[in-house]
Amino acid sequence: MIIAANLKTNLTRHETASYIEEVNRCALASKQDVLVFPAISSLDSFDTKVEVGTQNAYPTQKGAFTGEIGLEQLDEFGIKIILIGHSERRHVLGESQEFIAQKFRYFKSQGFKIVYCVGEPKAKREAGKAEMMEYIAAQYAGIDTEYENLIIAYEPVWAIGTGLTPTLEDIEDIHAELKKKSSAPLLYGGSVKVNNIKDVLSVKNVDGVLVGSAALYAEHFCTMIQYADEIESNN
Ligand code: PEP
Repeated sequence: MIIAANLKTNLTRHETASYIEEVNRCALASKQDVLVFPAISSLDSFDTKVEVGTQNAYPTQKGAFTGEIGLEQLDEFGIKIILIGHSERRHVLGESQEFIAQKFRYFKSQGFKIVYCVGEPKAKREAGKAEMMEYIAAQYAGIDTEYENLIIAYEPVWAIGTGLTPTLEDIEDIHAELKKKSSAPLLYGGSVKVNNIKDVLSVKNVDGVLVGSAALYAEHFCTMIQYADEIESNN
């Protein structure tokens, strides 16, 4: 399974290095694929089993894009994984589907592993399944769903950082729908934590998780990695 941590705008460079060192010890003892997305200022060349990716980058090699980083800055550290379409970039930072698709095309052309996030806000969830699925379908516009290095993360916007989660039945239902769109590994994300990860990972068509706040403590994230191993060995 794929167990991924999005550290968002948290931890200093020094704290991140210690975090990755600790998580790497757990990853080495585990069968899971462990990914960590630190803040951009904490990127570095990590010689670890843990795969380190960037939370964002501009679709360019280099150039006049103030405040952004491009391929040249990622290449410096050998970073080949990127998170694209995260709800905070869509809804807080205002990225359009068109721009997201442009990023996708660029980083696909560079062979990056792409963790591509989709998910509906609360109003769309409440509008009923048909409208919700239509909303999510629009987030696949311009995305190559057959890209070999694609991982999709289903993350309902209303579940991110709120402590709320869909029911396990709802996760199963939506993942079944999303698997019809792409056979890429499909993660669930949104308020996953130590005390619900086992349930979430047991749901059909859940190939892993993307964890935000609950992954901020290496010890907690390690417990989640161990739980994934336990679930896999029980199956
Ligand atoms: C995320 O940011 O991708 C996420 C899932 O956050 P949280 O686990 O805090 O809901």
